[in-house]
Amino acid sequence: MTKTVLITGASRGIGAATALAFGRSGWNVAVNYRRSAQQAEEVCEKICSAGGNALPFRADVSDPAQAAVLVDDTIHAFGGLDALVCNAGVALPQMLVTDVTDGQWRELFAADVDGVFYPVRSALPHMIHNKSGAIVTVASMWGQTGGSCEVAYSAAKGAVIAFTKALAKEVGPSGIRANCVCPGVILTDMNAHLSPADLDALREETPLEALGRPEDVAETVLFLCSHKAGFVTGQVVGVNGGLVI
Ligand code: NAP
Repeated sequence: MTKTVLITGASRGIGAATALAFGRSGWNVAVNYRRSAQQAEEVCEKICSAGGNALPFRADVSDPAQAAVLVDDTIHAFGGLDALVCNAGVALPQMLVTDVTDGQWRELFAADVDGVFYPVRSALPHMIHNKSGAIVTVASMWGQTGGSCEVAYSAAKGAVIAFTKALAKEVGPSGIRANCVCPGVILTDMNAHLSPADLDALREETPLEALGRPEDVAETVLFLCSHKAGFVTGQVVGVNGGLVI
């Protein structure tokens, strides 16, 4: 039977590439977006025109009620939920921690931490009932190492890493796997503010001498959700060209 994945924040960047990778591999794909309706439609059209099956679902995953409806609508539309990819996220401009406002802190933690917890909490009863499921969260290398002038973002992504490790222990006996992917520098809108000189410097610092593409992360997420990763859980997988080892 065709498997179904729900990918949060799949209208752009890493999420969109991940949706396309799952679509190409024959999964039903629930493409979540918050604001970018047209891009989400385009992702679905690409999947469907290649013979796959995808639908767009608007929801702000930092809102518990919307996250619950998103999960329910996905299960209703496709008849099940085999994998959940918690990819949606935002970043702040680089700044000193003393300059981070209350509002920026709350907004970041809402999107990057609440936005992982709520979809997972809503999806788990279904997965536990089926005694099967795969969850992948998307954190960041800054959550592993901490980044100067990225204190709030590092803290939020560190929370996602710890959440995923604890989750893996808790739901493993229910047949559910949970893993975390930590991208390095990936060329998406999130890094559009970086100058060519900044990007060159990051490329030079990276052992593989390249910047990441959304597809690099997508293939790792797809692997972690597949049966090929059936004995892999609780792991934090860097996709960073060796920038963080
Ligand atoms: P992006 O291009 O800015 O795309 C972000 C996606 O998240 C969009 O689809 C956006 O949807 C969605 N989103 C944000 N807040 C949301 C919310 N509350 N509810 C639902 N959707 C929401 O970012 P990206 O670079 O692909 O990043 C994807 C993930 O990878 C993030 O968690 C990010 O922190 C992480 N990451 C990225 C990098 C990198 O170098 N790019 C590095 C490390 C980690 P709408 O546009 O529809 O609002």
